[in-house]
Amino acid sequence: MIIMKKDATAEEVKNVIAEIKRHGLRADVSQGEFRTVIGLVGDESRISFAHLAVLPGVREARMVETPYKLISREYSELFEGKDESRIIKVGDIEIGGDEPVFIAGPCAIENKKQLFRIAQEIKAAGAHILRGGIFKPRSSVHSFQGLGSLGDEEAREALSWLREAGQRFGMPVMTEVRGETQVDLIADYVDILQIGARNMYHQDMLSRVAKKGKPVLFKRHFGASIEEFLSFCEYIVAEGNRDVILCERGIVPTGKGKSYTRYTLDLAAVPVVQRETYLPIVVDPSHAVGRRDLIFDMSCAAIACGASGLLIEVHYNPTEALVDAQQMITPDELKEVIDTCNKINKIVTPDRKRIRVT
Ligand code: PEP
Ligand code: MN
Repeated sequence: MIIMKKDATAEEVKNVIAEIKRHGLRADVSQGEFRTVIGLVGDESRISFAHLAVLPGVREARMVETPYKLISREYSELFEGKDESRIIKVGDIEIGGDEPVFIAGPCAIENKKQLFRIAQEIKAAGAHILRGGIFKPRSSVHSFQGLGSLGDEEAREALSWLREAGQRFGMPVMTEVRGETQVDLIADYVDILQIGARNMYHQDMLSRVAKKGKPVLFKRHFGASIEEFLSFCEYIVAEGNRDVILCERGIVPTGKGKSYTRYTLDLAAVPVVQRETYLPIVVDPSHAVGRRDLIFDMSCAAIACGASGLLIEVHYNPTEALVDAQQMITPDELKEVIDTCNKINKIVTPDRKRIRVT
């Protein structure tokens, strides 16, 4: 990254960007309160740092070893001059602030009536954001793939229900983009684009979704290390979109016997990610444990360790849900989760800020 002098002129900044581009790299320019910092996007071995360091207006040209420099705390501290986490605003909702944000809804939108009833009931329970699946990633081609897979008309209809339900009950809406061909369509209807665990490695899709300029909820793949998770997040931010909400949703368990949960919820990822980056991270206990009887406990634990929010699957009659019935909780149960998590957050957050060792 290139750290410009405090009094560097616009002309000097322009000149550095041109030099970076001339070597086949892209420039991520951050105009902070204190100074301009330019991140290099691309293969850094193509350019000499010694050469960049002597350009007019440059204070320092620093090679950053981490593969996720644009989202690293180190980068934002350089131009903002302070260690602050990013707050992502979606309508009136702030993700990454002092209050946890609750995202809820059915795994799959099945019909308008089902969606509207769930939306109304989760709102009453205290949820902030409505999420419903329209293109579902499924392990078997023979199972219900979501209304979106039935055709373009069905996809648009379901998306318009989602938007309408969000407006009616006062919640921003989110749905998953399962493939590149869905990006433009979905971005026309929702406030947040979700990238599911299976697509974490799909770099072309990440860039395409990022270019829509809307907030992105980015899930960790179940086989990914934290470093890989953050490295792939960088593909989104490299397009100039810093509104990324990271999401821990469980990783593949190891060992021979039964694990008793669908995946292993890696809660240590929450404080680790917060130390590494300035982006907020939420936790999805539903897909992590895959069991409704564990959602309350895991939700409490996630908020206790500092998650900025939760993503929870909800249905008024869980057993009748077409997808992920085993992990849905009811709106009443969601209310218990939200009320308890808010209490936990109030107790733990001030102490965490006070005693956190960095
Ligand atoms: C989902 O959120 O509905 C989903 C399928 O989750 P994941 O991508 O984490 O498996
Ligand atoms: Mn699901």
